[in-house]
Amino acid sequence: MTKLLLPTSTAGSLPKPSWLAEPEKIWSPWALEGEQLIEAKQDALRLSLQEQVHAGIDIVSDGEQTRQHFVTTFIEHLDGVDFENRETVKIRDRYDASVPSVVGAVSRQKPVFVEDAKFLRQQTNQPIKWALPGPMTMIDTLYDDHYKSREKLAWEFAKILNQEAKELEAAGVDIIQFDEPAFNVFFDDVNDWGIATLERAIEGLKCETAVHICYGYGIEANNNWKKTLGSEWRQYEKAFPQLQQSKIDIVSLECQNSHVPMDLIELIRGKKVMVGAIDVATNTIETPEEVANTLRKALQFVDADKLYPATNCGMAPLSRQVARGKLAALSTGAQIVRQELTA
Ligand SMILES: [Zn+2]
Repeated sequence: MTKLLLPTSTAGSLPKPSWLAEPEKIWSPWALEGEQLIEAKQDALRLSLQEQVHAGIDIVSDGEQTRQHFVTTFIEHLDGVDFENRETVKIRDRYDASVPSVVGAVSRQKPVFVEDAKFLRQQTNQPIKWALPGPMTMIDTLYDDHYKSREKLAWEFAKILNQEAKELEAAGVDIIQFDEPAFNVFFDDVNDWGIATLERAIEGLKCETAVHICYGYGIEANNNWKKTLGSEWRQYEKAFPQLQQSKIDIVSLECQNSHVPMDLIELIRGKKVMVGAIDVATNTIETPEEVANTLRKALQFVDADKLYPATNCGMAPLSRQVARGKLAALSTGAQIVRQELTA
């Protein structure tokens, strides 16, 4: 895909322009509808792509301009889920949310993001990455009134994700990333069936695959949860041994200001690692030297040809100006270390 050392990318979302959705807010509703919305999303995608390219990001994305929520926008397109019939559930054992209900067999009648991915592919020759929710995080964002089994529903979603992923690959996507923040919470399930369902989702793919496991956006519920995690965050330790054995190519992690002991990455030695070197829960823009320092620490545990500098998580809640600054810092910081490695 890319032979460049330390290719940079973002974990996911980038800020939306105010004419598309209310800015500096996650999951804000679309400001337009119908044909106007389709055109506005494409315009926003072009803009977001241009900002990534301008900042020197190597593996680019749609900046998630095409979705409102990283899980529910995908689920909205499926059969078997009733968005009118809502129940309150605890998301990731952390915060209550009103979520749609699974009321029948789930299925995907038509592609969800494939047209958007084709549009992105037309706009650039750089490698592109597309994010999908992972099966375990999907079931954690729903009330299940049909299967009555988290595991059964996860396997059904894995099959659906695999259909979508194969079409994204055919559309020219180079890396398909599955967002699985739930892997940081439900450790027994992760090892019993979480990683297995993820492998079902990537079955038969020839493009590269990634799993993104983070501590979430800088929202209050997540910030409060982080305060309970102590000085060393060792959550990754639980899933890493089995992930190392899995067929997933890339693991995307939160490493900047995250209290994750960097040596945990040793447990997935052999995998490519997207090292989060940008904190998305603060408006303070990292200096390139701070980014470089995080990457140097990670290099103790990741071979240089497998290190992919990235952001901790999505930047949708940040201002466009702050996000631009952080993208530039990521790019410049990676360049510093690239030069050291090739000197
Ligand atoms: Zn994330």
